[in-house]
Amino acid sequence: MKIKIIENFSLKELNTFGLKVRCRYFVQPTSLSESLDLVHQAFFKTFPSMIIGDGSNILFAADFDGLVIRPGIVGWEVVEENPEDVMVKAGAGTNWADSFVPDMIRAGYWGVENLSLIPGTVGAAPFQNIGAYGVEAKDVVAGVEGLDLVTGTVKNIPASECAFTYRSSRFKNEMQDSFLITSVFFKLSKKPVPVFTYGRLKESFASTQTDLKKIAAFIIKERKKKLPDPIILGNAGSFFKNPLVNEILAMDIRKEYPDVPFFPAGQGQAKIPAGWLIEKCGWKGKREGAVGVFPRHALVIVNYGGATGEEIFDFSEKIRHSVLDRFDIDLEREVRVVLS
Ligand code: NAP
Repeated sequence: MKIKIIENFSLKELNTFGLKVRCRYFVQPTSLSESLDLVHQAFFKTFPSMIIGDGSNILFAADFDGLVIRPGIVGWEVVEENPEDVMVKAGAGTNWADSFVPDMIRAGYWGVENLSLIPGTVGAAPFQNIGAYGVEAKDVVAGVEGLDLVTGTVKNIPASECAFTYRSSRFKNEMQDSFLITSVFFKLSKKPVPVFTYGRLKESFASTQTDLKKIAAFIIKERKKKLPDPIILGNAGSFFKNPLVNEILAMDIRKEYPDVPFFPAGQGQAKIPAGWLIEKCGWKGKREGAVGVFPRHALVIVNYGGATGEEIFDFSEKIRHSVLDRFDIDLEREVRVVLS
């Protein structure tokens, strides 16, 4: 059976900026054998291809004149367990915030609670090493199963070979668009392992707190307070990464701005919140036409309705340049930009 390929497909529902963009072809393999079927079709090598999940970390500044592949395997199962831990295998197309994380919380499996409410799919977790409140995907991902789109072979890649770094991995670098993550293995704990290293969590919970549902509910509430719901206001979460700078530069900034927050990041480096830098440059809440910086979070660029991807991109570049001029820090985008 040949996999269904859709022509001239609208990606409006598949990018959380809500942009009216299209791709030439679209395909959503719902099993490993469908993915293999796709790769072995002569058609496959004719066009450039790109992989997206729920489009929650992407900005289309133009239509995509090629094939968009969306991993469509959904659901999860326990593949190994002992009294302490559990190994869960989850389909890359499973929704992260509405399905996978709540299921793990209900099952009593610890590890992903601080990552509650992050938009996107399970496949995106190792792809960009998602992180929040002191936990990153790399802390719980045991490995990845996927398809090498160049050779057409199925590969199992252990976490030690995923090259996880801050909000990145080898899947986001040299393997971008050439490796289709189909499933992800997570090693989760049956015993409480709360992580309360971040401010509001530290203040609100004692280390003895072991109510998993309460912790997840707290994270959800915190995120809802600060971040816009993409269904209501188009956005892709943090637009830029928090920069790691030399501690000497951070101290210099502190001389002029005693309120600058920064966090030691090892090897003489410090992490400065990009949102703080953007706010200091006067962008928080600023709006130009249909594009703006969210008034409650300076790291989030929003589409107030009807903006084009190009307008959002140009606006983001203005922000980047003003931070560079003022602080000599070149912000790196967390969001992937598709220019043509
Ligand atoms: P915040 O408390 O205003 O702090 C700003 C930044 O400072 C955070 O992003 C965090 O960087 C860093 N930070 C805060 N406390 C820290 C600590 N104890 N140790 C090391 N670094 C610390 O943060 P927020 O903007 O409300 O975000 C809260 C969490 O949600 C953060 O982890 C953030 O990454 C996550 N978040 C993710 C997205 C997304 O789209 N991916 C959007 C918004 C928020 P790091 O997060 O880089 O460690």
